[in-house]
Amino acid sequence: MDCNEKKSFELKMSYGKACNILRKNILFNLAKKLKLNICYRCGKKIVDINKFSIDHKKSWQNTTQPIKLFFDFNNIAFSHLKCNIANTTYKYPSNPEKFFAKTRKHSASLRIISPKGYNWCFSCKKHLLVSEFHKNKSNIYGFQRQCIICRKKRRLSTPAPIV
Ligand SMILES: [Zn+2]
Ligand SMILES: [Zn+2]
Repeated sequence: MDCNEKKSFELKMSYGKACNILRKNILFNLAKKLKLNICYRCGKKIVDINKFSIDHKKSWQNTTQPIKLFFDFNNIAFSHLKCNIANTTYKYPSNPEKFFAKTRKHSASLRIISPKGYNWCFSCKKHLLVSEFHKNKSNIYGFQRQCIICRKKRRLSTPAPIV
């Protein structure tokens, strides 16, 4: 039994989990002492530790500086967990072409999410207006994965079946 296993055994939960609970306890009690236990989202007091969450004033996801925004102390606020989740709406990047080009470099297999009103054509590798796609209800985005032109090209290049 190593050191952490022994600790986990005595605490009857994983040592990591116990540390997280303790950290949250300390944070919540300090916030209360400093009267910082006010929800950033709704302005009401947070009285229940189970509803206490660490919030980011400015969403760090899909930005050009996710790491900076994630750790920036000035970007941290406290909020009710419920208020926090309610405000986590997916925001499209301001420059989708550049953003997605960057993400594609990281992971070629990453699912490509298009800006609102656009759909990704995997053949011509572009975000195109949804009007350039046929609808497809079985696809999660509601459109074909290839634009109308690419589908047409594919149809023409495929030899006619021999009957
Ligand atoms: Zn709230
Ligand atoms: Zn296409």
